[in-house]
Amino acid sequence: MDITKFEKYLALVTDHPLVLSPAERAGIILTRKEHCICPACPTYRKCAEKAGDRAFCTIGKSREGCITDESSGCRCPDCSIYRDVGFEKEFFCTRGTEQQQRILSVLEMREEVY
Ligand code: SF4
Ligand code: SF4
Repeated sequence: MDITKFEKYLALVTDHPLVLSPAERAGIILTRKEHCICPACPTYRKCAEKAGDRAFCTIGKSREGCITDESSGCRCPDCSIYRDVGFEKEFFCTRGTEQQQRILSVLEMREEVY
């Protein structure tokens, strides 16, 4: 079975646990927010902009159900972070992070498996 870039990344992190301090984690989120193209996505909403939320691939779903409608599509595959990390899932703002979606898909905890 082909091992994707993301799975190699996860294996690396698992073999060499990376314990991040709150400041380091905040730095990663800040960098991803700088590169994030969510604000240019038609699915992005004003409520997320007001909260300063983006980089949902890293922080998880939009808070308090701010973004729920997926009908306008997801721009994530066009993002440099997406390509560099090797993500495969989409709609992080409504479905959660890549890890959360993969785990839920495997466990089939949802009626609809993405
Ligand atoms: S992959 Fe998507 S959510 Fe993550 S930084 Fe890029 S555009 Fe934002
Ligand atoms: S996670 Fe995807 S669908 Fe959600 S706002 Fe960002 S680009 Fe659009």
